[in-house]
Amino acid sequence: MNHSCPICAYPGLEEPPRSPSSGGSYEICPCCGFQFGVTDDDDGVTYDTWRLHWAEEGMEWFSRGVPAPAGWDARAQFAKVASKTSSPPATKTAPQSTKPGPTGVGPDQRRLR
Ligand SMILES: [Zn+2]
Repeated sequence: MNHSCPICAYPGLEEPPRSPSSGGSYEICPCCGFQFGVTDDDDGVTYDTWRLHWAEEGMEWFSRGVPAPAGWDARAQFAKVASKTSSPPATKTAPQSTKPGPTGVGPDQRRLR
């Protein structure tokens, strides 16, 4: 099963990068070179920092053992993460909990009678 890299959006990771039970997968993303459970846990590098670093380095394919997929396009792939991370905070979406309804007015109406 394939999983997406949370840093570079490469969709071909063998394992989920992190799991609640076992932490990092120790898999190295062949695209951006981030090793889950090591680069983050041991080196203290955040996804955002690594992503910036990777972008600054020219978004090059990291792995020398795993070839880049045919037609791999770093910028197209990176556009996915960029749109994901730079999306504005969810202020536009209406909060789901505040439903206008008769429930809040009920007691007051009863009191008036
Ligand atoms: Zn990656």
